[in-house]
Order: sequence, then C-alpha cells, then structure tokens
Amino acid sequence: MDHDGKKKPARPGEVPIDRFREAGYRAVDWIGDYLEKTREYAVLPDCAEGDLLARLPEEMPEEGESFEAIEKDFRERIVPAVTHWNHPRFFAYFSITGSAPGILGELYSAALNTNGMKWASCPASVELEKRVLQWLARAVGLPGDFSGIVVDLASTATLLSLAVARERACGFRSRKEGFDAKREKLVLYTSRESHVSVEKAAIVLGLGLDAVHAVDTDDEYRLDPAALSAAIDADRAAGRKPFAVVATLGTTVTTSVDPAGAIADIARREQLWFHVDAAYAGPAAMLPEKRLLFDGWERADSIVFNPHKWLFVPIDASALFFRDPRAWRHAFSVVPDYLASDGDADDPMDYGFQLGRRFRALKLWFVLRTYGRRGLVANIRHHIALAADLAGRIDRSARWERVAPVHFSTVCFRFTGGGEGESSDRANREIFDRLNRSGIAHISRAVVGGRFVLRLTFGNLKTTGADVDEVWRALEEMAGRS
Ligand SMILES: *Cc1c(COP(=O)(O)O)cnc(C)c1O
Repeated sequence: MDHDGKKKPARPGEVPIDRFREAGYRAVDWIGDYLEKTREYAVLPDCAEGDLLARLPEEMPEEGESFEAIEKDFRERIVPAVTHWNHPRFFAYFSITGSAPGILGELYSAALNTNGMKWASCPASVELEKRVLQWLARAVGLPGDFSGIVVDLASTATLLSLAVARERACGFRSRKEGFDAKREKLVLYTSRESHVSVEKAAIVLGLGLDAVHAVDTDDEYRLDPAALSAAIDADRAAGRKPFAVVATLGTTVTTSVDPAGAIADIARREQLWFHVDAAYAGPAAMLPEKRLLFDGWERADSIVFNPHKWLFVPIDASALFFRDPRAWRHAFSVVPDYLASDGDADDPMDYGFQLGRRFRALKLWFVLRTYGRRGLVANIRHHIALAADLAGRIDRSARWERVAPVHFSTVCFRFTGGGEGESSDRANREIFDRLNRSGIAHISRAVVGGRFVLRLTFGNLKTTGADVDEVWRALEEMAGRS
C-alpha cells in the first residue's frame, strides 16, 4: 500500500507524518463542525440492531487502507449508528458533555501514550493527577486530609473502596488467606435507591448479594437513618457483622440525597466504613447554595464522583478520594521485582488492582483550567436552572406531575392525563417511545413508587432554554396523542 501515492513506505502500513498532519487537520475540522452542529443530528440513530454490523467486513483488511477511505466509512457508516451523547437535547441517563478542552486533553494524552502506573513510569501523569484531585477536593469543600486517584468509572471506585473496607473488617487477613463469606458474615448497608455498582462490588468481592442490606427510604427516596440503625441491630443480633455503609448523594433515578451527617454518626458509632457515592451530583458541591446537601460527606472514608458526568470531561474519568492511604496500600500493594521503585515513591498502582493507567489527569487539567472554578459553577447552575424551568412547567400543568424533588439537574415526572393505573403507565410509555423515536430528544424511563415515569437530565454545555421549550412542546404534543 502506497500511502502518499508517491513514495514507497519502508514497511507496509507505515504512516508518513505528513499524512498524519493532513488527516489530523481534517479530523479537527470534522470535530469542530460536529461540536458546532451537533444539534442538527437526530439524537438517536435511525437503525436496527445488527444494521451496522452487516455493513462492516467480516475480515480485517489484508492490506492497509488510506485515512480517506477510513474517514469516509466513519462518516457514512459509523456516525449514522451513533447515539449523540454530546447533543444538547440528550437528556437520558445522565446528560454529559465531551467539551472542546476535554477533547484536546484526550488527543494529547493519546499522543504521549504514557502508562502512569508508578511515578517512575510517568512523573507528569502521577503528579498532575495529585494536583487536579487536590483542586477538585478543595473546590467541592473536602478537607485537606483527603487524597485520591483517578480511575475509569465510579463502579471501579466503589469496588475498590468496598475492597479496602472488607480488608479492614477482616484485619487485613483476607488478602493473604482469602475471604470466607460464610465465616465472616459481613454485611453492608445502602439504600434501596443506590446504584447497582454496590451490588456488583459485592458479587466481585465474594461478599455475595446476600451481604447487601437494602435499607428503606423515606418519602423523598432518602436512606432512613432510623431504619439503618434498626437493620444494624437486627443483623448484629443475628450474628452478622456490619462493616460498611454506602450513602448516595444524588441517586441515579430521582437524584435523592441520603443524609450524610446522620449516616456518618451511625458509621462512627458502629465502626462501619463510610463510602459516599456522588457519581453524578458531586460537582454540585462547588455551589455554595448546594453545599448543605453534602453536609457530612467530609466524614466519609471514601468518596467518588465522576468528572465525566457533570464536569464536562469526556468519558471516562472518575475521581476517587480517600482518607487513609495506608489502608489502601495495605489492601492492594503487591510489588513484583520488575516494578520496584527506588525509595518510597507514592505509586498509583498500589491503590487498586489495575496496573496500567491512562493519563486522564491531562484532560481534567485542560477542562478545569479552561472554565475555571467560576465557569464550572456558572454552567452547573445553568443546568440546575434549566431543570427548575422544566419542573415549574410540570408543576403548573394540570396534566403532568413531578414524582420527586428536584435538587440538581434531573426531573422525574409523569403524564397524569392518561387515566389511572395501567392505562396511565401505558400512556407514559407511549410518550416515552414517541419522543425518543422522534429524534427531537432522548429521555430516560424509570419506575418510581411503582409507576412508569419519564426522566430528564441536563448536563450538556450547549443546552439552552430554547431546548427546554422544544422538548416541552414535544412532550405536550406526544401526550396530546394519548
Ligand atoms: C452513574 C452512576 C454510577 C456509575 O458510574 P460509572 O462511572 O458508569 O461506573 C454510580 N453511582 C451513581 C449514583 C451513578 O449515578
């Protein structure tokens, strides 16, 4: 294969740097156009399962192909099957932004291609990570004794935290002797509304799902501290050993906020590991007017939130903070000769099971510097205002109702003009299907209080009040057909 049409490459597939530059400029132009015109795409692709697969050759190419050919297929085959998470009317799951500075950070980190498993393997990666985590911790009001690492996902962060909690509960014996769930009888607590990552961690850690005690919530979907205390007492009486509690500040469906202060009191009294999952809502702690909702999280043993959810960093980047780094090293550190450091370097690989690590701090640094604290706060506030705008329309309408408080940028609601019981659920399901099929917006569904509900979140930097107008008009129209 002749890449530039003139000169024969030394080896097949060699990419002359001039070709990289040309393709790179085209890529940045494409990305620029995409960021400028994302809203011209239908949010959801018009394709059926298997459509793309059928259009992709079953065998990898024998001979290398040109960037032009690959770019053409990217535009004509891949992009049409993309769900546009970066669209201003993507309101499903958690609405997010792959911001321009974050994209640049990703680009540079791919170019450097470092593996920051230890200080010596990339000092820049390890030290920049420490600094951006410190910036983040201060920005959300955490005390200076938290340190941390950047991981891929909140699910990983919660798994690591509960692994350390389990080790501590077993006197740091289980890393050597293994873990016998039947003998240890450990039990951990979290609310019925918490994220499935807590249960998955219990599966991976060999605790088993039976070790997860789902505590009742109050009428605003918050963990009920009295129910937690009662559950602990009952479990102790039954010979089980409570060892951890996970509070969620901003639950995945209704974004309810567990009372961190009351839970911290119970955790201290009962000597439980206290983990806080603030995957989505954590960045809102940068807002003075929201700080009260987080009161008590500063007493946690470990905290996670995701800059890739509400801090405009491209997927993936999850900030994990912890109090006692020695416990983490004690739980995880295994250093083979070939990875030994001279001296006592503080190496990220000692804080978890993953060895290799991408240079995620770079994109975080690009984003935090580009927006600054003030810019981040202004944008988070804007999203909260958009949610309040939508909630207000729902509250003022006789045909819709909100089903949970709106603390942040997420609104759960339902159409009430579609009759009672199952007929009402059916009406809401139809609205959900019609709206998503329309391509105008993408929203989520959930079940709250046993009812089918619609769920809409704001988190994209390009979303405006006009987008709220448009999705509200669409919702009213879809509901009108019910
Ligand atoms: C999204 C979410 C998670 C999972 O995040 P990942 O980074 O995808 O693992 C965990 N907890 C809560 C509360 C979430 O909203």
